[in-house]
Amino acid sequence: MSEAIKKVRVATVSLAGCFGCHMSFLDMDERLVPLMERIEFNRSPLTDIKHCDPCDIGLIEGGLCNSENVEVLREFRDNCRILIAVGACAINGGIPAMRNQFELRDCLAESYLDGIGVENPQIPNDVELPLMLDKVHPVHEAVKIDYFLPGCPPSADEFLKIIGDLLEGKQPSLPQNLVHYD
Ligand code: SF4
Repeated sequence: MSEAIKKVRVATVSLAGCFGCHMSFLDMDERLVPLMERIEFNRSPLTDIKHCDPCDIGLIEGGLCNSENVEVLREFRDNCRILIAVGACAINGGIPAMRNQFELRDCLAESYLDGIGVENPQIPNDVELPLMLDKVHPVHEAVKIDYFLPGCPPSADEFLKIIGDLLEGKQPSLPQNLVHYD
């Protein structure tokens, strides 16, 4: 009997992201079928695995907006041989980083105290809640990132190209026609 091919283990996460990058990954549609013969998912919103085992590739969607984001990102860095910042939010903070021009306390007040339709105004402070960071940060400010996949979101073709290159043991590169930042 032929030996099963060892699959490349991939972990994915959405930090301060909108899950749009994950949706774009799934936009590979039927091309996911042959890909799944080569890779397996570890920790990911697509699985029920709660913590990262040692992985070959980690895909990080979203920047850092709270303490839990930083903890999870460090877990990925500790466990993933190759870490890829996926999408504008992970690369430069993206749209969520627009809050950086305001004070955090003003953002919280706008949402929880003075917002339209707010009843019983109070800033949530349960210990279960992760603390918000003063500013939103791109992931490379907290850990070393190996590759950056631009776009908001990156297209399914971009995901396929970068993962395909890695599966072939090549240095990943994107042709100019796949590079976009919107
Ligand atoms: S880069 Fe765009 S699609 Fe991806 S998480 Fe950020 S806002 Fe969503």
